[in-house]
Amino acid sequence: MKKKIELAILIFLIASLAVLNRNLEEQVSSDKITVQKNTVVLDAGHGGGDPGKVGVGDVVEKEINLQIAKKVKQLLKKEKVKVIMTREADTMLAGEESTGTKVADMKERVRIINEEAPQLAVSIHQNSYQDAVVHGAQVFYYSGSSEGENAAKIMQNALLSIDEDNTRQAKANDTYYLLKRTDVPTIIVECGFLSNAEDAENLCNEEYQDKVAEAICDGILKIIGKENGV
Ligand SMILES: [Zn+2]
Repeated sequence: MKKKIELAILIFLIASLAVLNRNLEEQVSSDKITVQKNTVVLDAGHGGGDPGKVGVGDVVEKEINLQIAKKVKQLLKKEKVKVIMTREADTMLAGEESTGTKVADMKERVRIINEEAPQLAVSIHQNSYQDAVVHGAQVFYYSGSSEGENAAKIMQNALLSIDEDNTRQAKANDTYYLLKRTDVPTIIVECGFLSNAEDAENLCNEEYQDKVAEAICDGILKIIGKENGV
């Protein structure tokens, strides 16, 4: 009887060790993704049949996202950063099995990011809220990613420098598809609130867009360790 119990305990211990070992292996391999240094994916949110948020003065999010993304691309190219855009036109992204749905669009964005494996992926969006007073840029990161958190905090600081009234802080999120499914550090930059009249007006203004793009570019250079041309 005693031997049987000992044997049972032994089997249990071996099984526990096997499970523990597997978990450790998964942990290590997920940290082992090789990223392409000096490469950034810029993702202009929405497009085509998906306008995103429509704000004060019928400002359409997908258009502002793309305008700012293109400006950031130009600035990064000057700094010799390799830039991959998920879209450069007013289109929804289509996967191979695409049916033109939002799901296919999001999957395609994630596929591009994971395939390119950039040092950083930045998804550009504009926010909206029922309370029109709410304003200011805010950066989101995946709650399980310390690299994402670090990147988001650097980017948030870069964006605070262009708006002295903004007191928002980088925020964790564990539900956004893009943040959850990408293998590389990914942040979502909400440049402002289209539901706020001042933000909406600013975000349509070319000069303000330039300021936002410069702040995003500065943030990216700091995150990827290319500050001051290093
Ligand atoms: Zn959006």
